[in-house]
Amino acid sequence: MKIGIPAETRPGETRVAATPETIKKYVAAKHQVIVQSGAGIASSITDEAYQAAGAQIGSAADAFGADLLLKVRAPNAEERALIKSGTVLVGMLNPFDADNIAAMAAHGLSAFALEAAPRITRAQSMDVLSSQANIAGYKAVMLAANTYQRFMPMLMTAAGTVKAARVLIMGVGVAGLQAIATAKRLGAVIEASDVRPPVKEQVESLGAKFIDVPFLTDEEKEIAQGTGGYARAMPADWMRRQAELVHERAKQADIIITTALIPGRKAPILISEETVKAMKPGSVIVDMAVEQGGNCPLSELDKTVTKYGVHIIGEPNLATLVAADASALYARNVLDFLKLIIDKDAALAINREDEIVAATLVCSGGEILRK
Ligand code: NAD
Repeated sequence: MKIGIPAETRPGETRVAATPETIKKYVAAKHQVIVQSGAGIASSITDEAYQAAGAQIGSAADAFGADLLLKVRAPNAEERALIKSGTVLVGMLNPFDADNIAAMAAHGLSAFALEAAPRITRAQSMDVLSSQANIAGYKAVMLAANTYQRFMPMLMTAAGTVKAARVLIMGVGVAGLQAIATAKRLGAVIEASDVRPPVKEQVESLGAKFIDVPFLTDEEKEIAQGTGGYARAMPADWMRRQAELVHERAKQADIIITTALIPGRKAPILISEETVKAMKPGSVIVDMAVEQGGNCPLSELDKTVTKYGVHIIGEPNLATLVAADASALYARNVLDFLKLIIDKDAALAINREDEIVAATLVCSGGEILRK
């Protein structure tokens, strides 16, 4: 089969959907791979490296003209015009973007949105949300450390002792856990909060302190379990009690990293303006939920702002700032996903009965499959 790897055109997108490592595997499996010239350059992969792995280098039209397209982001209208009807497209296509899915369906594409894969053991190796959130959690701590005007670790020097930074992590999924681990490696003292009860043990196993917000009703307990590994929106009363506790912890914190998301909804507000006002001057907030509306109402997309003396970083899509490794992990996720839809004779074999295929296939044959 002809596999195309176009260059990504969305502003700020540095990743690419295949690396020389994965291309060698496609070529070994008898596929022909066409990479758009320059597609890997923002991830430090040259055309020559792709060629050495067995790919052909071509134009955008050559890459988009393939039978199977591997992308990071959904194609825009201009790119769609280069794709023929019936093409299979695999990428992070945003399953919540109904307009885009409708456009891809109208164009006759069979499109797989990898973010929609269920959180089951078999899907772990193709879980793009996890591979990218892991990187983003790491980078959030790096950005915070860069902006913070003090040391992270405790230091005893001849000129006196420096206190360790206090880091507060709000939302401890994949990104939050990596943020805890990274801040820990830098020597910070860490506290963390999440709605899901199993998180407490994970937080403590990384040497951080869990902020316990007690559940007062069976309803609260039930909602906190989440669905399919994801959080649900908590009742207002619980959120109020959480906010009170967080307010007190935030006053002591030097760095806050917020990662809390509810799939398909606006991110919950966890650090209010009042809390920012009460924080120490020079402290730093990294709002990783900024693209979904933000966990802090003062964060601004694509900007670092200083409010009440607190630096608030609203950099979206942090994985793109670690482009080479983000691409390497994403490309492996894609490779593993393709094993599900390509048979041993290198032909497409889309089994809609498969749980992962059914969840990720958002449109096919003109039909919108994700409601
Ligand atoms: P996410 O990015 O959807 O959300 C980030 C975190 O924010 C979550 O932990 C969520 O509980 C938390 N959150 C939501 N509302 C909050 C609030 N009001 N206050 C505090 N925290 C709040 O989460 P994620 O990183 O995608 O991971 C969710 C879970 O799924 C994790 O436990 C992860 O280990 C699990 N997971 C399982 C698999 C698998 O089994 N295959 C794969 C990936 C992730």
